Amino acid sequence: KGSLMAGKRGLIMGVANDRSIAWAIAAACAAQGAELAFTYQGEALGKRVLPLAASVGSTLVLPCDVGDDAAIEATFAEIRKEWGKIDFLVHAIGWADKQYLRGRYLDTPRDAFLKAMEISCFSFTVVGKHAAALMPDGGSLLTLSYLGAERVMPHYNVMGVAKAALEASVRYMAADLGSDNIRVNAISAGPIMTLAANGIGDFRYILRWNQLNAPLERNVSLADVGGAGLYFLSGLSSGVTGEVHHVDCGYHLVGMKNPAAPDI
Ligand code: NAD
Repeated sequence: KGSLMAGKRGLIMGVANDRSIAWAIAAACAAQGAELAFTYQGEALGKRVLPLAASVGSTLVLPCDVGDDAAIEATFAEIRKEWGKIDFLVHAIGWADKQYLRGRYLDTPRDAFLKAMEISCFSFTVVGKHAAALMPDGGSLLTLSYLGAERVMPHYNVMGVAKAALEASVRYMAADLGSDNIRVNAISAGPIMTLAANGIGDFRYILRWNQLNAPLERNVSLADVGGAGLYFLSGLSSGVTGEVHHVDCGYHLVGMKNPAAPDI
């Protein structure tokens, strides 16, 4: 056990189970001495998050649906009451109606578009503002994106558009908060089979394609993303803000199918 995060406190939003990216980042930070609080969406997920939180010594576990301003306010009021201030925030939350994560992007209706944008992009802006108000000594905010923000990925559709907006908001938030020594970054993770990923059409094919064509010739692991999260949330990245950092075994640089890879 190291001490990179000793004396730091952070809020982790987006754990659904032990395969969640948020959990991988939380575990990496806890192993380096961070003290953590967690939020979960709804009672069913709460039952899974409570024992995970307990396993890293966390007792501050709160319900928070990021579509609800009152829930967000209550969450940060509770953190302020318990801790007074925090050093970091992880936002690993995304959502779009599964019905539109297949077929054509063009067929996304207005309400599905707005809801995807609200939960997957605006929620980082609003929780980031609340978190920053609890960071008088500076801090680090981190969110999760995907290459579908930059390039067209089959079935990613409205999520790709929402992630593009999320990546732009990372830059605007970094500019707004830089003078408070609060850094804002995103990890653009390669595909990982999680609860959220399950909703994306042909996800197994996407995983296989990435594995065969990424320079490292494998898919990214939860530990790979956990390690990068630790970098962004610790002093190791003290000079880094406004960055969208690919943790995808190099897949983002590939322009064409690997000719040596088998057909799938
Ligand atoms: P996950 O299902 O484990 O986590 C998604 C989380 O979002 C869940 O905990 C869910 O409760 C939460 N959430 C959804 N709507 C919410 C709401 N209204 N209020 C509060 N929480 C809400 O899946 P994951 O893959 O770990 O996803 C975490 C982040 O990583 C997401 O932003 C996702 O887009 C991103 N990401 C995932 C992959 C991948 O392949 N799995 C790749 C790149 C980026």
